[in-house]
Amino acid sequence: MQDSTKILHNIPVDELTGAISVPIYQTATYVQEAPGVNKGFDYSRTNNPTRKVLEELIAKLENGKTGVAFGSGIAAIDAVLRLLKPGDEILAIDDIYGGAFRLFTQIYKKYGIKVNYIDTSNVEHVVNAISSNTKFIWLETPSNPTLKVSDIQKIAQIAKHYNSLVVVDNTFASPVIQRPLDLGADIIIHSATKYLAGHSDVIAGLVVTREEELGAKIKFLQNATGAVPGPFDCWLSIRGIQTLELRLERQCKNAALITDFLTSSKYIDKVYYPGLSSHKNHHIAAQQQKLFGAMVSFSLKDDNAFSAIKLAQSTTFFKLAESLGGVKSLICHPFSMTHKTIPAEIKRTTGIQDSLIRLSCGIESAEDLVKDLEQALESIHQKKYAVSFADV
Ligand SMILES: *Cc1c(COP(=O)(O)O)cnc(C)c1O
Repeated sequence: MQDSTKILHNIPVDELTGAISVPIYQTATYVQEAPGVNKGFDYSRTNNPTRKVLEELIAKLENGKTGVAFGSGIAAIDAVLRLLKPGDEILAIDDIYGGAFRLFTQIYKKYGIKVNYIDTSNVEHVVNAISSNTKFIWLETPSNPTLKVSDIQKIAQIAKHYNSLVVVDNTFASPVIQRPLDLGADIIIHSATKYLAGHSDVIAGLVVTREEELGAKIKFLQNATGAVPGPFDCWLSIRGIQTLELRLERQCKNAALITDFLTSSKYIDKVYYPGLSSHKNHHIAAQQQKLFGAMVSFSLKDDNAFSAIKLAQSTTFFKLAESLGGVKSLICHPFSMTHKTIPAEIKRTTGIQDSLIRLSCGIESAEDLVKDLEQALESIHQKKYAVSFADV
């Protein structure tokens, strides 16, 4: 069964009324016949029918056993971290999502969780850094913002020898592009805010586990710590997921055409896109991903933050904003925006150059998007000459 069919037909029709759209059960509690005798729901922090549809849908899509929904991607990450105890270690990809870095360093460090950041796109680095204290190998692939690709299958094989679990933040790919559980990963995290919901109109997070036992632990944490999404946010996420495959096909096509333009532009230094044959792990991306994704990053020949920020302010269709994955194209400057909490020296060593620009390609026409970038690049370079002329 193709993904779109699988998605649409795993969203049940409401048994009570036949409603084809999932009802929004905006309720906190449920009337019981007798204490403890109910219809499967007793309190909406614990369980809610709208949320249940979303949780079962994402579990099916990722080929996992259990799906658990959270109020944000960060809350989903937080729940997974609560599986650890003081002294446990995480091996994490070095250009990890800034919010995860902040959670690791400013919250979990004081609880005795140690994180070792390495370039997981090189399997040898994982082999060298792993130890019996390693409880999680934390991957983002493709990563944010330099789109590094890590070999999930190989890393999962290494992890097994050390009894450590492989956690994959699958936000950048989505299950339509990549299914980490099929490659041996144990836990999937999603910021559903991004591709899954897809319209930049909701904040939500999801966790999917390969095993039921681990799923029950996450489910326990969801209820015990309470970072649940509301029914309407679950409904928006379900509604978004229905068009996930369709949107991504268009978005990935746009990303490839934009990459073609960028690689031929005289103003651009490096272009980061897993679909480029020059990408370090292009062959791995081709194996483990169905499409190459809709995120593209690039740096300018004129490598300074000022030019990059000017560029990000000079586009019309690419809106200057954090976040990604929505139908409208977005542009951002990771150095001063999404990754500002990471110290400058660490940023530069992990490839987050001063002039790095990250694009989230939307569903607009590729021609309009390319023209938009072209005029923005021309305009910042013309302005620059005007400034330097005046300086003389
Ligand atoms: C946005 C994002 C998150 C955090 O998700 P929120 O929904 O914003 O809390 C986590 N991981 C990645 C890769 C992200 O892009």
